[in-house]
Amino acid sequence: MADDCIFCKIVAGEIPGRTVYETDSVLAFLDANPLASGHTLVIPKAHAERLDDLSAGAAADVFAAVHELTPRVESAVDADAVTVGINDGSAAGQEVPHVHVHLVPRFEGDGGGPIHAVAGERPDLSDAELDAIAADIAE
Ligand code: AMP
Ligand code: ZN
Repeated sequence: MADDCIFCKIVAGEIPGRTVYETDSVLAFLDANPLASGHTLVIPKAHAERLDDLSAGAAADVFAAVHELTPRVESAVDADAVTVGINDGSAAGQEVPHVHVHLVPRFEGDGGGPIHAVAGERPDLSDAELDAIAADIAE
C-alpha cells in the first residue's frame, strides 16, 4: 500500500467504495464521479502507478477482471456498448496514480466519442517514419 493513495485506501477499507467485484488481486468499484451510469474502475490491489510498474501476473489478473466485468456492467445499466480505457500517465490524463481501467457504459446517441477522440492533432507520418517507429517498438 502506498501512503496517500486513495485507491490503496479503498482496497484497505479505510475509505468507502461501491465494490462490484473482488478477487485476491483485483478490486472493481463504481467511479465516484461517473461519466455514465455504471462507470466502473478496475484496479490491481497491489499499488502500481503506471502499467509499466505492474507485474505480468497482476496485469493478467486485471485484464481477466475487465473481460468478465465488461458485459456485466453493460447489461446492468442496459447500455449498448462500453468504452474501456486507461489513462497511463499524467500527460494522458491520469489523476489517480494507481493503475485503473475505466469501464464506461455507452449508449446510442449519448454524445460521446470513440477512443480516437482523445488525442490531439494527428501527425502526418511518412512510410519511413512509420517503419522506424514500428522497429523501435518491436526492438
Ligand atoms: P483518472 O483521471 O484516469 O486518474 O481517473 C480517476 C478516476 O477516479 C476519476 O474518474 C474519478 O472520478 C475517480 N475517483 C477519484 N476518487 C474516487 C473515489 N474515492 N472513489 C471512486 N472513484 C474515484
Ligand atoms: Zn495505490
